Amino acid sequence: MAQPIGRHFLQIPGPTNVPEQVLRAMSAPTIDHRGPEFAALTLDLLEAVKPVFGTTGPVVIYPSSGTGAWEAALVNTLSPGDRVLAFETGHFATLWREMAESLGLEVEFVPGDWRHGADPEAAAAHLAADTDHAIKAVCVVHNETSTGATSRIAEIRRALDDAGHPALLLVDTISSLGSVDYRHDEWGVDVTVSCSQKGLMLPPGLGFNAVSDKALRAAESAGLRRSYWDWRPVLEANRRGFFHSTPATNLLYGLREALTMLDEEGLPQVYARHLRHAEATRAAVRGWGLEILCLDEREHSPALTAVVMPEGHDADKLRELILEKFNMSLGAGLGKLKGTVFRIGHLGHFNDVALAGTLSGVQMGLELAGVPVDDSGVAAALRVLTGKAGA
Ligand SMILES: *Cc1c(COP(=O)(O)O)cnc(C)c1O
Repeated sequence: MAQPIGRHFLQIPGPTNVPEQVLRAMSAPTIDHRGPEFAALTLDLLEAVKPVFGTTGPVVIYPSSGTGAWEAALVNTLSPGDRVLAFETGHFATLWREMAESLGLEVEFVPGDWRHGADPEAAAAHLAADTDHAIKAVCVVHNETSTGATSRIAEIRRALDDAGHPALLLVDTISSLGSVDYRHDEWGVDVTVSCSQKGLMLPPGLGFNAVSDKALRAAESAGLRRSYWDWRPVLEANRRGFFHSTPATNLLYGLREALTMLDEEGLPQVYARHLRHAEATRAAVRGWGLEILCLDEREHSPALTAVVMPEGHDADKLRELILEKFNMSLGAGLGKLKGTVFRIGHLGHFNDVALAGTLSGVQMGLELAGVPVDDSGVAAALRVLTGKAGA
């Protein structure tokens, strides 16, 4: 097959486009991870990574996918048979629940329709009913990547506080960190789970746990078996700038560069850019006359938009056509949404013209696939980008 000409548009909600600066930083020689040069890098990095989590506490870094970081959060804080409250926001929340059950936890899974974030009122009701404090942790996926709905973590925190409930709060920020405003300390989150390949603009391969003092105390008595995922030897080695096993050295070079880029743009500006791109994308979807999967105006994801295909049209066929004709990858419908939804990633290393190109590719694809759409979608998005919407 001939190589398509021009740049591939990787518009899935992770892995995302890796900036050239980051790729260049990663191409430096791998050094001795027990030597002084590496210790200096680690000590700097362990501080530099904190602002994006909104924390002043420790962040544990693993060579792992996000799934590994999920496991780390559970096995360091909980014991076999512990009860966990979780919310069926979509595919990723369902997978995290399955992991928790396979580790021997009992999950109280609040049902959901995969079109909303975690419901703070349902959280309040479950916590109020739990008068003997059997629930040891509340698990929330901040940005449900399968649906494009963002949960209101501050309101979940308030539900815990109002109930006077001591459960830990564990939050998956895998597809929100570095794209969506997030405040580990201010929101009283105990473990923030994340990884490298989405908003942080890196290739896959780094997992993160930002950890509160309360979570560190829980780790002292947690009874789930852990070895590789145990925070304590990592944190112990980190104090001198090292890791207890071999770290992903070149990904750490990339992380240093990506954090510099986020800092130079400014995190408030990064978050505002994502909000603007999400708003423009929704304007396009409405302009096409299609339906946005997320139903709550307060919960539209800044990082991605999931679009419902009209009856009788297959989202996977559309994605295939767009890949073949326009060299652009879009996100598939996951789990029960397979074939009925496609997802547009607008996170990470991205700008207005790249969004305009992405939405043009989607519009052309919809037209060529014979999906009945209005061709005013892209024009509506451009009006948002130029600030002329509603004028
Ligand atoms: C991508 C993703 C995961 C899974 O991460 P992996 O790196 O594939 O293990 C989990 N949760 C959310 C919200 C995600 O977007």
